[in-house]
Amino acid sequence: MPNAAYEPIIGLEIHAELSTRTKMFCGSLNDPNETRPNTNVCPICMGHPGTLPVPNHDAIARVIQVGLALSAEIPEFSRFDRKNYFYPDLPKGYQISQYQHPLVSGGSLAVTRNDGTTKAIRITRVHLEEDTGRSIHDAKSGTTLLDFNRAGIPLMELVTEPDIRSAEEAKLFASELQQLLQHLGVSHADMERGQMRIEANVSLRPVGQKEFGTKVEVKNINSFRFVEKAINYEIGRQEKILLRGEKVLQETRGWDEASSSTVSQRSKEAAHDYRYFPEPDIPPLRIEHAWVEKLHAALPELPRQKRERFAAEFNIAPKLAAVIARDRAMAGFFEATISELEAWLRATGRERDTKAIALAANYLTTDLAKLTADAGASFADLKITTEDFAELMTYLVENRISSKAAKSVLAEMFATGTDPSNIIERDKLWQISDDSALAAAVESVIGMNEKAVADYRAGKPAALQFLLGQVMKSSRGADPAVVQKLLEQKLRD
Ligand code: ADP
Ligand code: MG
Repeated sequence: MPNAAYEPIIGLEIHAELSTRTKMFCGSLNDPNETRPNTNVCPICMGHPGTLPVPNHDAIARVIQVGLALSAEIPEFSRFDRKNYFYPDLPKGYQISQYQHPLVSGGSLAVTRNDGTTKAIRITRVHLEEDTGRSIHDAKSGTTLLDFNRAGIPLMELVTEPDIRSAEEAKLFASELQQLLQHLGVSHADMERGQMRIEANVSLRPVGQKEFGTKVEVKNINSFRFVEKAINYEIGRQEKILLRGEKVLQETRGWDEASSSTVSQRSKEAAHDYRYFPEPDIPPLRIEHAWVEKLHAALPELPRQKRERFAAEFNIAPKLAAVIARDRAMAGFFEATISELEAWLRATGRERDTKAIALAANYLTTDLAKLTADAGASFADLKITTEDFAELMTYLVENRISSKAAKSVLAEMFATGTDPSNIIERDKLWQISDDSALAAAVESVIGMNEKAVADYRAGKPAALQFLLGQVMKSSRGADPAVVQKLLEQKLRD
Protein backbone atom coordinates (compact mmCIF):
# COMPACT_ATOMS: atom_id res chain seq x y z
CA MET A 1 0.00 0.00 0.00
CA PRO A 2 1.50 3.35 -1.00
CA ASN A 3 0.24 5.29 1.99
CA ALA A 4 -0.87 4.05 5.39
CA ALA A 5 -3.50 6.81 5.71
CA TYR A 6 -5.81 5.25 3.09
CA GLU A 7 -6.86 1.72 2.35
CA PRO A 8 -7.72 0.68 -1.23
CA ILE A 9 -11.01 -1.16 -1.84
CA ILE A 10 -11.23 -3.03 -5.13
CA GLY A 11 -13.95 -5.05 -6.85
CA LEU A 12 -13.52 -6.65 -10.27
CA GLU A 13 -15.89 -7.23 -13.15
CA ILE A 14 -14.47 -9.80 -15.54
CA HIS A 15 -15.85 -10.84 -18.92
CA ALA A 16 -14.79 -14.06 -20.62
CA GLU A 17 -15.78 -15.36 -24.05
CA LEU A 18 -16.89 -18.98 -23.85
CA SER A 19 -15.24 -21.34 -26.32
CA THR A 20 -18.47 -22.98 -27.46
CA ARG A 21 -18.76 -24.28 -31.02
CA THR A 22 -21.58 -21.91 -31.94
CA LYS A 23 -22.82 -18.51 -30.79
CA MET A 24 -25.10 -17.77 -27.84
CA PHE A 25 -28.45 -17.55 -29.61
CA CYS A 26 -27.92 -18.92 -33.12
CA GLY A 27 -26.02 -21.56 -35.08
CA SER A 28 -23.33 -19.23 -36.44
CA LEU A 29 -19.84 -20.46 -35.65
CA ASN A 30 -17.95 -19.07 -32.67
CA ASP A 31 -14.49 -19.14 -34.24
CA PRO A 32 -11.89 -16.81 -32.70
CA ASN A 33 -9.48 -17.62 -35.55
CA GLU A 34 -11.77 -16.46 -38.34
CA THR A 35 -9.94 -13.59 -40.03
CA ARG A 36 -12.44 -12.80 -42.80
CA PRO A 37 -14.84 -10.17 -41.44
CA ASN A 38 -18.59 -10.84 -41.35
CA THR A 39 -18.23 -14.54 -42.20
CA ASN A 40 -19.84 -16.11 -39.14
CA VAL A 41 -23.06 -14.15 -39.21
CA CYS A 42 -26.74 -14.93 -39.77
CA PRO A 43 -30.04 -13.02 -39.54
CA ILE A 44 -30.29 -13.83 -35.80
CA CYS A 45 -26.93 -12.43 -34.67
CA MET A 46 -27.35 -9.58 -37.15
CA GLY A 47 -30.55 -8.64 -35.32
CA HIS A 48 -32.92 -8.86 -38.25
CA PRO A 49 -36.57 -8.23 -37.31
CA GLY A 50 -38.69 -11.32 -36.90
CA THR A 51 -35.87 -13.67 -35.93
CA LEU A 52 -35.92 -15.56 -32.65
CA PRO A 53 -32.95 -16.35 -30.37
CA VAL A 54 -32.49 -19.88 -29.00
CA PRO A 55 -30.17 -20.15 -25.95
CA ASN A 56 -27.03 -22.24 -26.34
CA HIS A 57 -27.33 -25.20 -23.94
CA ASP A 58 -23.55 -25.72 -23.81
CA ALA A 59 -22.93 -22.08 -22.85
CA ILE A 60 -25.38 -22.37 -19.95
CA ALA A 61 -23.71 -25.62 -18.84
CA ARG A 62 -20.29 -23.95 -18.88
CA VAL A 63 -21.39 -21.03 -16.69
CA ILE A 64 -23.00 -23.44 -14.24
CA GLN A 65 -19.72 -25.38 -14.10
CA VAL A 66 -17.88 -22.15 -13.31
CA GLY A 67 -20.39 -21.54 -10.52
CA LEU A 68 -19.91 -25.04 -9.14
CA ALA A 69 -16.14 -24.63 -9.22
CA LEU A 70 -16.60 -21.44 -7.18
CA SER A 71 -18.85 -23.32 -4.69
CA ALA A 72 -21.61 -20.91 -5.63
CA GLU A 73 -25.34 -21.32 -5.54
CA ILE A 74 -27.08 -22.43 -8.73
CA PRO A 75 -30.70 -21.25 -8.63
CA GLU A 76 -33.58 -23.33 -9.93
CA PHE A 77 -34.89 -20.34 -11.83
CA SER A 78 -32.96 -18.09 -14.14
CA ARG A 79 -33.87 -15.64 -16.86
CA PHE A 80 -32.48 -13.50 -19.66
CA ASP A 81 -33.09 -9.75 -19.63
CA ARG A 82 -32.80 -7.12 -22.29
CA LYS A 83 -30.25 -4.37 -21.79
CA ASN A 84 -31.14 -1.53 -24.11
CA TYR A 85 -28.59 0.80 -25.59
CA PHE A 86 -27.52 1.94 -29.01
CA TYR A 87 -24.09 1.35 -30.43
CA PRO A 88 -23.03 0.63 -34.03
CA ASP A 89 -21.52 -2.74 -33.07
CA LEU A 90 -24.78 -3.86 -31.42
CA PRO A 91 -27.07 -4.60 -34.38
CA LYS A 92 -30.21 -5.37 -32.35
CA GLY A 93 -30.11 -2.12 -30.38
CA TYR A 94 -30.05 -4.18 -27.19
CA GLN A 95 -27.92 -6.86 -25.64
CA ILE A 96 -29.45 -10.03 -24.26
CA SER A 97 -28.00 -10.30 -20.76
CA GLN A 98 -29.05 -11.33 -17.27
CA TYR A 99 -29.96 -8.82 -14.61
CA GLN A 100 -32.18 -9.99 -11.76
CA HIS A 101 -31.80 -13.75 -12.08
CA PRO A 102 -28.21 -14.68 -12.96
CA LEU A 103 -27.17 -18.30 -13.44
CA VAL A 104 -24.72 -18.11 -10.52
CA SER A 105 -24.89 -16.28 -7.19
CA GLY A 106 -22.28 -16.17 -4.42
CA GLY A 107 -19.30 -18.45 -4.05
CA SER A 108 -15.66 -17.49 -3.72
CA LEU A 109 -12.23 -17.94 -5.23
CA ALA A 110 -9.09 -18.02 -3.10
CA VAL A 111 -5.82 -16.36 -4.04
CA THR A 112 -2.41 -17.19 -2.60
CA ARG A 113 -0.31 -14.08 -2.03
CA ASN A 114 3.44 -14.04 -2.67
CA ASP A 115 4.09 -14.44 1.05
CA GLY A 116 2.22 -17.76 0.96
CA THR A 117 -0.91 -16.57 2.77
CA THR A 118 -4.30 -17.35 1.27
CA LYS A 119 -7.40 -15.19 1.05
CA ALA A 120 -10.88 -15.96 -0.27
CA ILE A 121 -12.45 -13.32 -2.52
CA ARG A 122 -16.23 -13.52 -2.51
CA ILE A 123 -18.09 -13.64 -5.80
CA THR A 124 -21.27 -11.62 -6.18
CA ARG A 125 -22.60 -13.28 -9.33
CA VAL A 126 -21.78 -14.81 -12.68
CA HIS A 127 -24.17 -14.26 -15.56
CA LEU A 128 -24.40 -15.03 -19.23
CA GLU A 129 -24.79 -12.54 -22.06
CA GLU A 130 -23.76 -12.04 -25.69
CA ASP A 131 -20.71 -10.23 -27.02
CA THR A 132 -20.92 -7.26 -29.36
CA GLY A 133 -19.40 -6.88 -32.81
CA ARG A 134 -16.08 -5.18 -33.33
CA SER A 135 -15.58 -1.61 -34.56
CA ILE A 136 -12.39 -1.11 -36.52
CA HIS A 137 -11.40 2.53 -36.75
CA ASP A 138 -9.30 3.19 -39.82
CA ALA A 139 -7.33 6.34 -39.06
CA LYS A 140 -6.09 6.74 -42.64
CA SER A 141 -9.49 6.94 -44.29
CA GLY A 142 -11.25 8.27 -41.21
CA THR A 143 -13.89 5.56 -41.50
CA THR A 144 -15.12 2.94 -39.09
CA LEU A 145 -15.59 -0.63 -40.29
CA LEU A 146 -17.79 -3.17 -38.53
CA ASP A 147 -17.08 -6.87 -38.14
CA PHE A 148 -19.94 -8.92 -36.69
CA ASN A 149 -18.09 -12.23 -36.35
CA ARG A 150 -17.92 -11.56 -32.60
CA ALA A 151 -21.52 -10.38 -32.28
CA GLY A 152 -23.48 -12.94 -30.29
CA ILE A 153 -20.55 -14.96 -28.98
CA PRO A 154 -21.43 -16.23 -25.47
CA LEU A 155 -19.89 -14.01 -22.83
CA MET A 156 -19.87 -14.69 -19.10
CA GLU A 157 -19.53 -11.83 -16.67
CA LEU A 158 -18.23 -12.42 -13.17
CA VAL A 159 -18.54 -9.73 -10.50
CA THR A 160 -16.62 -9.86 -7.23
CA GLU A 161 -17.53 -8.36 -3.91
CA PRO A 162 -15.29 -5.39 -2.97
CA ASP A 163 -12.97 -7.76 -1.06
CA ILE A 164 -9.71 -7.01 -2.85
CA ARG A 165 -7.26 -4.74 -1.03
CA SER A 166 -4.29 -4.27 -3.38
CA ALA A 167 -3.31 -4.29 -7.03
CA GLU A 168 -1.32 -7.46 -6.35
CA GLU A 169 -4.40 -9.27 -5.03
CA ALA A 170 -6.38 -8.11 -8.06
CA LYS A 171 -3.80 -9.51 -10.42
CA LEU A 172 -3.64 -12.78 -8.50
CA PHE A 173 -7.42 -13.07 -8.62
CA ALA A 174 -7.47 -12.48 -12.37
CA SER A 175 -4.75 -15.06 -12.85
CA GLU A 176 -6.50 -17.60 -10.61
CA LEU A 177 -9.76 -17.11 -12.50
CA GLN A 178 -7.99 -17.43 -15.84
CA GLN A 179 -6.47 -20.74 -14.73
CA LEU A 180 -9.85 -21.93 -13.52
CA LEU A 181 -11.58 -21.11 -16.82
CA GLN A 182 -8.81 -22.78 -18.78
CA HIS A 183 -8.79 -25.91 -16.59
CA LEU A 184 -12.55 -26.20 -16.87
CA GLY A 185 -12.14 -25.81 -20.62
CA VAL A 186 -14.92 -23.20 -20.71
CA SER A 187 -12.86 -20.35 -22.21
CA HIS A 188 -9.43 -19.81 -23.74
CA ALA A 189 -9.35 -16.68 -21.55
CA ASP A 190 -6.48 -15.12 -23.48
CA MET A 191 -6.36 -11.47 -22.40
CA GLU A 192 -4.24 -10.35 -25.34
CA ARG A 193 -6.91 -11.70 -27.69
CA GLY A 194 -9.73 -10.03 -25.78
CA GLN A 195 -11.14 -13.37 -24.64
CA MET A 196 -10.87 -12.21 -21.05
CA ARG A 197 -11.43 -8.52 -20.17
CA ILE A 198 -11.07 -6.90 -16.78
CA GLU A 199 -12.70 -3.84 -15.29
CA ALA A 200 -11.49 -2.70 -11.89
CA ASN A 201 -13.57 -0.67 -9.44
CA VAL A 202 -11.26 1.24 -7.14
CA SER A 203 -11.91 3.47 -4.12
CA LEU A 204 -9.97 4.58 -1.07
CA ARG A 205 -11.11 4.99 2.52
CA PRO A 206 -9.26 6.34 5.54
CA VAL A 207 -7.80 3.43 7.50
CA GLY A 208 -10.20 2.57 10.30
CA GLN A 209 -13.29 3.93 8.52
CA LYS A 210 -16.07 1.46 7.82
CA GLU A 211 -17.85 3.09 4.90
CA PHE A 212 -16.40 2.79 1.44
CA GLY A 213 -15.33 5.88 -0.48
CA THR A 214 -16.43 6.91 -3.97
CA LYS A 215 -15.42 4.36 -6.58
CA VAL A 216 -13.96 4.81 -10.01
CA GLU A 217 -14.37 2.13 -12.66
CA VAL A 218 -11.25 1.50 -14.75
CA LYS A 219 -11.79 -0.07 -18.18
CA ASN A 220 -9.57 -1.00 -21.10
CA ILE A 221 -7.19 -3.18 -19.08
CA ASN A 222 -6.22 -5.60 -21.82
CA SER A 223 -3.19 -7.41 -20.47
CA PHE A 224 -2.15 -8.93 -17.16
CA ARG A 225 0.64 -6.41 -16.76
CA PHE A 226 -1.83 -3.56 -16.97
CA VAL A 227 -4.04 -4.92 -14.16
CA GLU A 228 -1.47 -4.00 -11.55
CA LYS A 229 -0.25 -0.86 -13.32
CA ALA A 230 -3.73 0.57 -13.84
CA ILE A 231 -4.91 -0.11 -10.29
CA ASN A 232 -1.75 1.26 -8.70
CA TYR A 233 -1.98 4.37 -10.84
CA GLU A 234 -5.61 4.86 -9.83
CA ILE A 235 -4.82 4.36 -6.12
CA GLY A 236 -2.10 7.01 -6.39
CA ARG A 237 -4.34 9.42 -8.28
CA GLN A 238 -7.20 9.17 -5.76
CA GLU A 239 -4.81 9.45 -2.85
CA LYS A 240 -3.45 12.74 -4.14
CA ILE A 241 -6.99 14.09 -4.53
CA LEU A 242 -7.94 13.06 -0.99
CA LEU A 243 -4.73 14.41 0.51
CA ARG A 244 -5.53 17.77 -1.07
CA GLY A 245 -8.83 17.63 0.79
CA GLU A 246 -10.83 17.25 -2.42
CA LYS A 247 -13.43 14.66 -3.42
CA VAL A 248 -13.01 11.78 -5.86
CA LEU A 249 -15.48 12.06 -8.72
CA GLN A 250 -17.51 8.92 -9.45
CA GLU A 251 -16.69 8.14 -13.07
CA THR A 252 -15.51 5.61 -15.62
CA ARG A 253 -11.87 5.94 -16.61
CA GLY A 254 -9.83 4.05 -19.19
CA TRP A 255 -6.28 2.78 -18.84
CA ASP A 256 -4.07 4.50 -21.40
CA GLU A 257 -0.86 2.56 -21.87
CA ALA A 258 0.82 5.29 -23.92
CA SER A 259 0.67 7.78 -21.04
CA SER A 260 0.68 5.07 -18.31
CA SER A 261 -2.33 6.72 -16.72
CA THR A 262 -6.10 6.47 -16.48
CA VAL A 263 -8.16 8.95 -18.50
CA SER A 264 -11.73 10.03 -17.81
CA GLN A 265 -14.31 8.46 -20.15
CA ARG A 266 -17.62 9.40 -18.63
CA SER A 267 -18.92 10.70 -15.34
CA LYS A 268 -21.76 9.21 -13.29
CA GLU A 269 -24.10 11.98 -14.45
CA ALA A 270 -23.85 10.70 -18.00
CA ALA A 271 -24.25 7.06 -16.98
CA HIS A 272 -26.55 4.91 -19.08
CA ASP A 273 -30.05 3.93 -18.17
CA TYR A 274 -30.39 0.55 -19.78
CA ARG A 275 -34.11 0.06 -19.19
CA TYR A 276 -33.68 -3.61 -18.39
CA PHE A 277 -36.74 -5.80 -18.83
CA PRO A 278 -37.30 -9.57 -19.15
CA GLU A 279 -36.34 -10.80 -22.63
CA PRO A 280 -39.72 -11.55 -24.20
CA ASP A 281 -38.32 -13.85 -26.91
CA ILE A 282 -36.80 -16.40 -24.49
CA PRO A 283 -38.84 -18.32 -21.91
CA PRO A 284 -37.41 -18.34 -18.36
CA LEU A 285 -35.03 -21.17 -17.57
CA ARG A 286 -35.66 -23.92 -15.07
CA ILE A 287 -32.34 -25.45 -14.01
CA GLU A 288 -32.85 -29.08 -13.14
CA HIS A 289 -31.12 -30.28 -10.03
CA ALA A 290 -30.16 -33.60 -11.60
CA TRP A 291 -28.44 -31.79 -14.46
CA VAL A 292 -26.49 -29.60 -12.02
CA GLU A 293 -25.43 -32.76 -10.16
CA LYS A 294 -24.21 -34.25 -13.41
CA LEU A 295 -22.22 -31.13 -14.25
CA HIS A 296 -20.77 -31.19 -10.76
CA ALA A 297 -19.65 -34.80 -11.12
CA ALA A 298 -17.98 -33.92 -14.42
CA LEU A 299 -15.81 -31.15 -12.93
CA PRO A 300 -12.11 -31.77 -13.50
CA GLU A 301 -9.46 -31.28 -10.84
CA LEU A 302 -9.22 -27.53 -10.17
CA PRO A 303 -5.92 -25.61 -10.41
CA ARG A 304 -5.56 -25.12 -6.65
CA GLN A 305 -6.16 -28.81 -5.93
CA LYS A 306 -3.77 -29.77 -8.69
CA ARG A 307 -0.85 -27.69 -7.48
CA GLU A 308 -1.36 -28.69 -3.87
CA ARG A 309 -1.43 -32.36 -4.91
CA PHE A 310 1.70 -31.97 -7.06
CA ALA A 311 3.62 -30.39 -4.17
CA ALA A 312 2.51 -33.09 -1.73
CA GLU A 313 2.62 -36.15 -3.98
CA PHE A 314 5.85 -35.43 -5.83
CA ASN A 315 7.61 -33.52 -3.07
CA ILE A 316 8.37 -30.47 -5.22
CA ALA A 317 8.45 -26.83 -4.10
CA PRO A 318 5.00 -25.15 -4.01
CA LYS A 319 6.17 -22.43 -6.43
CA LEU A 320 7.39 -25.05 -8.93
CA ALA A 321 4.19 -27.06 -8.51
CA ALA A 322 2.21 -23.88 -9.22
CA VAL A 323 4.11 -23.24 -12.45
CA ILE A 324 3.41 -26.78 -13.67
CA ALA A 325 -0.23 -26.89 -12.60
CA ARG A 326 -0.99 -23.47 -14.14
CA ASP A 327 -1.10 -24.89 -17.66
CA ARG A 328 -3.44 -27.86 -17.86
CA ALA A 329 -1.59 -29.37 -20.82
CA MET A 330 1.79 -28.93 -19.14
CA ALA A 331 0.42 -30.52 -15.98
CA GLY A 332 -0.82 -33.46 -18.04
CA PHE A 333 2.57 -33.81 -19.72
CA PHE A 334 4.25 -33.74 -16.33
CA GLU A 335 2.01 -36.42 -14.83
CA ALA A 336 2.47 -38.70 -17.83
CA THR A 337 6.26 -38.22 -17.61
CA ILE A 338 6.23 -38.99 -13.90
CA SER A 339 4.30 -42.20 -14.37
CA GLU A 340 6.88 -43.31 -16.97
CA LEU A 341 9.67 -42.37 -14.59
CA GLU A 342 8.08 -44.12 -11.65
CA ALA A 343 7.87 -47.35 -13.62
CA TRP A 344 11.56 -47.03 -14.42
CA LEU A 345 12.47 -46.14 -10.83
CA ARG A 346 10.65 -49.25 -9.60
CA ALA A 347 12.24 -51.43 -12.25
CA THR A 348 15.73 -50.24 -11.34
CA GLY A 349 15.24 -50.35 -7.58
CA ARG A 350 15.41 -46.57 -7.19
CA GLU A 351 12.02 -46.06 -5.52
CA ARG A 352 13.48 -43.70 -2.96
CA ASP A 353 15.36 -41.60 -5.48
CA THR A 354 13.55 -38.24 -5.75
CA LYS A 355 16.17 -36.82 -8.11
CA ALA A 356 14.44 -38.08 -11.26
CA ILE A 357 11.18 -36.26 -10.50
CA ALA A 358 12.99 -33.07 -9.48
CA LEU A 359 14.97 -33.21 -12.73
CA ALA A 360 11.83 -33.71 -14.80
CA ALA A 361 10.09 -30.79 -13.06
CA ASN A 362 13.08 -28.52 -13.69
CA TYR A 363 13.68 -29.47 -17.31
CA LEU A 364 9.95 -29.18 -17.96
CA THR A 365 9.53 -25.70 -16.49
CA THR A 366 12.79 -24.23 -17.80
CA ASP A 367 14.23 -25.82 -20.96
CA LEU A 368 11.13 -27.44 -22.44
CA ALA A 369 8.89 -24.51 -21.45
CA LYS A 370 11.28 -22.10 -23.14
CA LEU A 371 11.48 -24.18 -26.33
CA THR A 372 7.69 -24.32 -26.38
CA ALA A 373 7.23 -20.60 -25.77
CA ASP A 374 9.89 -19.62 -28.33
CA ALA A 375 8.18 -21.76 -30.96
CA GLY A 376 4.80 -20.27 -30.09
CA ALA A 377 3.65 -23.86 -29.51
CA SER A 378 1.52 -25.39 -26.75
CA PHE A 379 2.08 -28.39 -24.50
CA ALA A 380 -1.05 -29.88 -25.97
CA ASP A 381 0.64 -30.55 -29.31
CA LEU A 382 4.34 -31.26 -28.78
CA LYS A 383 6.32 -33.54 -31.09
CA ILE A 384 8.25 -34.82 -28.11
CA THR A 385 6.53 -37.68 -26.30
CA THR A 386 6.41 -38.08 -22.53
CA GLU A 387 8.09 -41.48 -22.97
CA ASP A 388 11.09 -39.94 -24.73
CA PHE A 389 11.26 -37.03 -22.29
CA ALA A 390 11.26 -39.49 -19.36
CA GLU A 391 13.95 -41.54 -21.11
CA LEU A 392 16.17 -38.47 -21.38
CA MET A 393 15.71 -37.87 -17.65
CA THR A 394 16.82 -41.42 -16.87
CA TYR A 395 20.11 -40.81 -18.76
CA LEU A 396 20.66 -37.74 -16.61
CA VAL A 397 19.92 -39.64 -13.42
CA GLU A 398 22.39 -42.34 -14.44
CA ASN A 399 24.97 -39.72 -15.41
CA ARG A 400 25.14 -41.23 -18.87
CA ILE A 401 24.93 -37.79 -20.48
CA SER A 402 25.97 -34.36 -19.24
CA SER A 403 23.40 -31.67 -18.59
CA LYS A 404 24.94 -29.68 -21.43
CA ALA A 405 24.36 -32.58 -23.81
CA ALA A 406 20.84 -33.06 -22.45
CA LYS A 407 19.91 -29.51 -23.41
CA SER A 408 21.01 -29.89 -27.02
CA VAL A 409 19.40 -33.32 -27.30
CA LEU A 410 16.17 -31.90 -25.89
CA ALA A 411 16.20 -29.08 -28.45
CA GLU A 412 16.44 -31.59 -31.28
CA MET A 413 13.81 -33.87 -29.76
CA PHE A 414 11.54 -30.83 -29.53
CA ALA A 415 12.09 -29.84 -33.14
CA THR A 416 11.88 -33.26 -34.77
CA GLY A 417 10.42 -35.73 -32.28
CA THR A 418 13.53 -37.94 -32.59
CA ASP A 419 14.23 -40.58 -29.96
CA PRO A 420 16.92 -39.31 -27.51
CA SER A 421 19.12 -42.42 -27.72
CA ASN A 422 19.41 -42.01 -31.50
CA ILE A 423 20.69 -38.46 -31.16
CA ILE A 424 23.08 -39.33 -28.32
CA GLU A 425 24.43 -42.31 -30.27
CA ARG A 426 24.83 -40.31 -33.48
CA ASP A 427 26.62 -37.41 -31.78
CA LYS A 428 28.64 -39.70 -29.47
CA LEU A 429 27.36 -37.93 -26.39
CA TRP A 430 27.41 -40.93 -24.08
CA GLN A 431 29.36 -40.10 -21.00
CA ILE A 432 31.78 -42.70 -19.61
CA SER A 433 30.35 -43.28 -16.21
CA ASP A 434 31.39 -46.88 -16.07
CA ASP A 435 33.96 -46.71 -13.28
CA SER A 436 36.15 -49.59 -14.41
CA ALA A 437 36.44 -48.26 -17.97
CA LEU A 438 37.34 -44.84 -16.66
CA ALA A 439 39.82 -46.27 -14.15
CA ALA A 440 41.51 -48.13 -17.00
CA ALA A 441 41.76 -44.94 -19.04
CA VAL A 442 43.30 -43.11 -16.07
CA GLU A 443 45.83 -45.94 -15.49
CA SER A 444 46.81 -45.89 -19.14
CA VAL A 445 47.31 -42.10 -19.22
CA ILE A 446 49.43 -42.29 -16.05
CA GLY A 447 51.49 -45.08 -17.57
CA MET A 448 52.13 -43.17 -20.79
CA ASN A 449 53.03 -39.78 -19.29
CA GLU A 450 55.89 -40.41 -16.89
CA LYS A 451 57.20 -36.87 -17.06
CA ALA A 452 53.89 -35.23 -16.18
CA VAL A 453 53.41 -37.71 -13.34
CA ALA A 454 56.85 -36.87 -11.97
CA ASP A 455 56.14 -33.14 -12.30
CA TYR A 456 52.88 -33.49 -10.41
CA ARG A 457 54.54 -35.47 -7.64
CA ALA A 458 57.23 -32.79 -7.50
CA GLY A 459 54.50 -30.26 -6.66
CA LYS A 460 53.51 -28.82 -10.05
CA PRO A 461 49.70 -28.74 -10.07
CA ALA A 462 49.60 -27.74 -13.76
CA ALA A 463 50.73 -31.25 -14.61
CA LEU A 464 47.44 -32.60 -13.26
CA GLN A 465 45.53 -30.44 -15.73
CA PHE A 466 47.59 -31.92 -18.55
CA LEU A 467 46.85 -35.47 -17.41
CA LEU A 468 43.19 -34.62 -17.00
CA GLY A 469 43.11 -33.36 -20.56
CA GLN A 470 44.64 -36.59 -21.81
CA VAL A 471 42.04 -38.71 -20.03
CA MET A 472 39.22 -36.52 -21.31
CA LYS A 473 40.52 -36.95 -24.84
CA SER A 474 40.51 -40.72 -24.64
CA SER A 475 37.25 -40.98 -22.65
CA ARG A 476 35.03 -38.66 -24.55
CA GLY A 477 32.25 -37.21 -22.45
CA ALA A 478 33.56 -38.30 -19.06
CA ASP A 479 32.70 -36.10 -16.11
CA PRO A 480 35.88 -34.00 -15.49
CA ALA A 481 35.25 -33.83 -11.76
CA VAL A 482 35.12 -37.61 -11.53
CA VAL A 483 38.27 -37.95 -13.65
CA GLN A 484 40.14 -35.46 -11.48
CA LYS A 485 39.20 -37.34 -8.34
CA LEU A 486 40.32 -40.63 -9.84
CA LEU A 487 43.60 -39.12 -11.06
CA GLU A 488 44.42 -37.62 -7.67
CA GLN A 489 43.62 -40.90 -6.01
CA LYS A 490 45.79 -42.99 -8.37
CA LEU A 491 48.68 -40.53 -8.18
CA ARG A 492 48.60 -40.74 -4.40
CA ASP A 493 48.89 -44.53 -4.51
P1 ADP B 1 -22.53 -0.33 -10.04
O1 ADP B 1 -23.95 -0.30 -9.67
O2 ADP B 1 -21.90 1.01 -10.14
O3 ADP B 1 -22.24 -1.20 -11.21
P2 ADP B 1 -22.00 -2.43 -8.22
O4 ADP B 1 -22.50 -2.33 -6.82
O5 ADP B 1 -22.75 -3.26 -9.19
O6 ADP B 1 -21.80 -0.97 -8.78
O7 ADP B 1 -20.52 -2.96 -8.12
C1 ADP B 1 -19.74 -3.12 -9.24
C2 ADP B 1 -18.37 -3.55 -8.79
O8 ADP B 1 -17.76 -2.54 -8.01
C3 ADP B 1 -18.34 -4.79 -7.94
O9 ADP B 1 -17.21 -5.56 -8.29
C4 ADP B 1 -18.17 -4.27 -6.53
O10 ADP B 1 -17.49 -5.18 -5.70
C5 ADP B 1 -17.36 -3.03 -6.75
N1 ADP B 1 -17.56 -1.97 -5.76
C6 ADP B 1 -18.73 -1.56 -5.25
N2 ADP B 1 -18.55 -0.51 -4.42
C7 ADP B 1 -17.21 -0.27 -4.40
C8 ADP B 1 -16.36 0.68 -3.76
N3 ADP B 1 -16.85 1.63 -2.97
N4 ADP B 1 -15.04 0.61 -4.01
C9 ADP B 1 -14.53 -0.30 -4.84
N5 ADP B 1 -15.27 -1.21 -5.47
C10 ADP B 1 -16.59 -1.20 -5.26
MG1 MG C 1 -22.39 -3.09 -12.45
